[in-house]
Amino acid sequence: MPRPYKCRRVFSEPSIQYFKPVGIMMRELDEVILTRDEFEAVRLADYEGKYQEEAAKLMNISRQTFGNIINSAHKKIADFLINTRALKIFGGVIEMISTDKRHFICYECKHKWAVPFGTAKPGKCPSCGSNNIHRSPDERGGFNRGRNRQSQRRGFCVNQ
Ligand SMILES: [Zn+2]
Repeated sequence: MPRPYKCRRVFSEPSIQYFKPVGIMMRELDEVILTRDEFEAVRLADYEGKYQEEAAKLMNISRQTFGNIINSAHKKIADFLINTRALKIFGGVIEMISTDKRHFICYECKHKWAVPFGTAKPGKCPSCGSNNIHRSPDERGGFNRGRNRQSQRRGFCVNQ
């Protein structure tokens, strides 16, 4: 039995989930599976250049656990590069935190504002106090725009 992991918070989804070398048949390749928390650790520490301490806090895990995750990620990425394998980003015990925002517009004063997902729908316009407010149909951007809504797991832990 694998020991149950504490849920790891992640803030991003990989834009590509499968990488394979050009010109090699799939059946000739072994897969390396990088978990979503390992991907997030690489993004925070190696790509964004955060200190491990800070990255660990963001992911809601200890500094030591973060160190283990990123070491494992580095080994897998090295294996992928050096031994010519396919790389799949999948799984992990994660809690997806969306940084997407909901946009609102006031029909009285035309004020526009945004609130993060997960917070309550505002009751009135922060500018004029009117309750004639509506979800803004435009500006619904965000990193997971157009993705499968099913993949947007927010606020609860999933063990894939
Ligand atoms: Zn208003």
